[in-house]
Amino acid sequence: MLRSMKLQDLNAHIMCVLCGGYLVDATTIVECLHSFCRSCIVKYLQTSYHCPVCDVEVHKTKPLLHIRPDRTLQDIVFKLVPGLYQGMLCVEF
Ligand SMILES: [Zn+2]
Ligand SMILES: [Zn+2]
Repeated sequence: MLRSMKLQDLNAHIMCVLCGGYLVDATTIVECLHSFCRSCIVKYLQTSYHCPVCDVEVHKTKPLLHIRPDRTLQDIVFKLVPGLYQGMLCVEF
């Protein structure tokens, strides 16, 4: 699927709300599909079992087993970051 969208809109999906940077080792919560850097979410889940964005419960006792690496998303970050200032991009999903 090929679609074009404003970089601003796309940015929301490739930024980590925990550190405010672009995703590093993009990792997604299985329950709600929100994504964070791996190191950020692992650290976060040591003190909370809820998603930092939507507050869904990741898991009652073992949240770290309910996150997974998101290669597709990470590829998008790698593709986009070199062209970040071009404003509008076509991205293949
Ligand atoms: Zn982060
Ligand atoms: Zn969430």
